[in-house]
Amino acid sequence: MNIHNMYNQLGVSDKVYAFGEEILASLRERFDAIDQVAEYNQGKVIAALQKNRVNVGCFAGTTGYGYNDVGRDTLERVYADTFHTEAALVRPQITCGTHALAVALSANLLPGDELLSPVGRPYDTLEEVIGIRKSTCSLAEYGVTYDEVNLLDDGTFDYEGIRAKIKPQTKMCTIQRSKGYATRPTFSVKQIGELIAFIKSIRSDIICMVDNCYGEFVEVIEPSDMGADMIVGSLIKNPGGGLAPIGGYICGTQACVDRCAYRLSAPGLGQEVGANLGLMTSLYQGFFLSPTVVSGALKGAIFAANIYERLGFRCVPNSTESRHDIIQAVELGSEKAMRAFCEGIQAAAPVDSYVTPVPGEMPGYDNKVIMAAGAFIQGSSIELSADGPIRPPYAVYFQGGLTWYHAKLGILMSLQKMVDAGIVAL
Ligand SMILES: *Cc1c(COP(=O)(O)O)cnc(C)c1O
Repeated sequence: MNIHNMYNQLGVSDKVYAFGEEILASLRERFDAIDQVAEYNQGKVIAALQKNRVNVGCFAGTTGYGYNDVGRDTLERVYADTFHTEAALVRPQITCGTHALAVALSANLLPGDELLSPVGRPYDTLEEVIGIRKSTCSLAEYGVTYDEVNLLDDGTFDYEGIRAKIKPQTKMCTIQRSKGYATRPTFSVKQIGELIAFIKSIRSDIICMVDNCYGEFVEVIEPSDMGADMIVGSLIKNPGGGLAPIGGYICGTQACVDRCAYRLSAPGLGQEVGANLGLMTSLYQGFFLSPTVVSGALKGAIFAANIYERLGFRCVPNSTESRHDIIQAVELGSEKAMRAFCEGIQAAAPVDSYVTPVPGEMPGYDNKVIMAAGAFIQGSSIELSADGPIRPPYAVYFQGGLTWYHAKLGILMSLQKMVDAGIVAL
């Protein structure tokens, strides 16, 4: 076996490969710690599957209204038990993460209510959901107001600022765990717990919703273990394990989730309707695989941070920081470097490896965005992908990898393209 030759054949030069191996040698301990978290979380998922007596009948497809859909109802119990919540809404009818968040917000906010983001501006696509950027059918159009408190310069919460912004009409706080397209730190579950405790100490009836996108199974606890009323995410990110072809989830209190179900389908119908269309095997199996898939993605993120930091690029998180989501931002400083990096990720893909990614307009985003992904599921970002808006500091957000080996190849290829373009020299 000559692994060297295999990498050569895939387009990685000896120099790039050797550089990668040198970096990897220093990461063994960190990889061991990631494996331990995965092992714990694997147990957590298996326990929930067993408790709910998942059986072959759960995988049967249903059509039409989907009344008495045992597979769907049991999957929702599995999510609720894994994340320790009273209830869960997990469905292919939730089309993506933004949709899940829009449902959670619009179901639990009424005209006259205010939504507060105590962690600064939320993810780009939520700007239109909330109406921060004028848009049809936004919460603002329905008379829901919005306020926000920026993080302090060191990336921590501005507790006094938050206290000042909590008004009688403040009904809900939206807390985004992951950095999204910003270069602020991602919050640990513990930090989120402290923030929720602070908000609840001011008014215990404020609903705390956490946008949990990219955070699931990175730690052994989730924000729902620390007082969040709802956690929300996408099944084409972590919890779908790469197998779910569509879907989103909302896990939380019975009261919040009931309202979400009525908003998603219709008042009076709620969780009773929504056929599973034969997707149950992939949703169950993806959830089962998710802790392992997340561990591979995390190893890739840490490998990338260590490579690019060594070459002088600012990485968020940096090469040694602890991890709270699977995203790795690398500030590349120019559009040219962003393109080269993304070309490498694309060239390493199992699907569409022959295409060249170019910046383009995307629905829901304000700037041009470049995206590299050769995914089995369109847009799946638990699969190896890199993207970023074309604006300073020209950061690419790198994430995913269904296997660690693929993530490794993608990072080596990104470096190869950067070397070939003369942007870095080894
Ligand atoms: C991906 C993401 C979303 C939106 O999810 P989509 O599935 O792309 O609609 C929302 N918030 C954060 C933090 C995300 O990373």
